Amino acid sequence: TPYIKNLQIDKSKFLEPSPIIQQRCQELIIDDKTTLKLMDLVLHEVNRGLSKKENKDADIKCYVTYIQDLPNGKERGKFLALDLGGTNFRVLIIHLKGENDFEMQSKIYAVPQNIMLGSGEQLFDHIAECLANFMREHNVYAERLPLGFTFSFPLLQLGLTKGLLVRWTKGFNCEGVVGEDVVQLLKDAIARRGDVQIDVCAILNDTTGTLMSCAWKNHNCKIGLIVGTGSNACYVEKIKNVENWDGPPSDKTHVLINTEWGAFGDNGVLDFIRTEYDREIDENSINRGKQIQEKMISGMYMGELARLVIYKFTKEGLLFNGVDSESLRKRFLFFTKYVSEIESDKPGNYTNCMQVMDELGLTNVTEQDCANVRYICECVSSRAAHLVSAGIAALINKMDEPSVTVGVDGSVYRFHPKFHDLMMKRIRQFVKPEISFDLMLSEDGSGRGAALVAAVACREEGRV
Ligand code: BGC
Ligand code: MG
Repeated sequence: TPYIKNLQIDKSKFLEPSPIIQQRCQELIIDDKTTLKLMDLVLHEVNRGLSKKENKDADIKCYVTYIQDLPNGKERGKFLALDLGGTNFRVLIIHLKGENDFEMQSKIYAVPQNIMLGSGEQLFDHIAECLANFMREHNVYAERLPLGFTFSFPLLQLGLTKGLLVRWTKGFNCEGVVGEDVVQLLKDAIARRGDVQIDVCAILNDTTGTLMSCAWKNHNCKIGLIVGTGSNACYVEKIKNVENWDGPPSDKTHVLINTEWGAFGDNGVLDFIRTEYDREIDENSINRGKQIQEKMISGMYMGELARLVIYKFTKEGLLFNGVDSESLRKRFLFFTKYVSEIESDKPGNYTNCMQVMDELGLTNVTEQDCANVRYICECVSSRAAHLVSAGIAALINKMDEPSVTVGVDGSVYRFHPKFHDLMMKRIRQFVKPEISFDLMLSEDGSGRGAALVAAVACREEGRV
């Protein structure tokens, strides 16, 4: 139990979670033996994804990104970027001026739920409208600027500027987009308006942007990881291992692979660790049976997972003297940020926890309840960190480089107080001892990373 073992503090100052709560949370704990098994399973699925013959049955598809050049720090110029697929939709303008020297302005636009679940045409019209407004406000309305499009969903790419949507994930489900080239849909929407002009240089995943943005400063960065609304990783792979490679002939030896590991478990291989809470999340989701690992890890579901456990234990009389509240009964009202807040309390102190319980309308909450709720949150978030760690450790061992930096972004990694430390510890334990690694927070991968990918792509074509 991480709560008790890892803390060397005066035990008289804090309450231990009740034995029954600890026992009932046991199924959420990923121990060393399970980690090894998960690493084997990840490696197996990654290898199947890379294989021509087995790709169609693989859960981890390992999509080819066509990005082969990491930034060299010499990228220059003015770029637009779009970032769709996280918590927010953003439009950005980035001016790359020199090594580690850039200027960036961005604006967040809402994507209302009726658009997230509406028609594809509506979605892309909305994106084009935000883009045009942004260009007007930033005095580049009449310019034709290169643009990088961070589109954080699984894409079957046919080149740097062509990608067919494989499936929607997270909160999106727009009609008429699956199977279509999303770059074309964007261009069509811009043409329908007829007022602005852009030059789409690249479409990319947020993991790719994260890797590129990190690699700009740190040439050792070879993995990009997102633990945010969704979860995914990309990494640098040798072309000789990519059986599906059909890129242009050149002397380049590597390519970035977008693993799309959120779909890991869709074929049932994770059933041995899934719980009734995971099944309930899946059954009530808009993409049933899909993105199974993502649903166990990412920020879109973490709070809801904790709520399901807390609610169940309350109904059984194990928490709050058996008295629940209306908010506790409602889906998604236990926000993922609550998990971070509750775990940010100093040991033995329950200020944040009490505050959250209050927001949820729970009354008569005892300190013992808080100790129990905190423990439940720790189990849910540690499980996520340990699942991610198994994936990263498997990738690092597979890459077999002497040293690897992992560029990481996403709300869970950023705001959870212990996610980084949990990952460092678990990965170190399972990565070959001769390999050194590091986890580095990547500053704004989906924005600056998009500009860098666009810059590198334009450089290739001699346009910048
Ligand atoms: C998407 C990935 C993305 C990840 C993080 C997943 O749902 O399929 O493409 O990288 O979320 O945003
Ligand atoms: Mg993002």
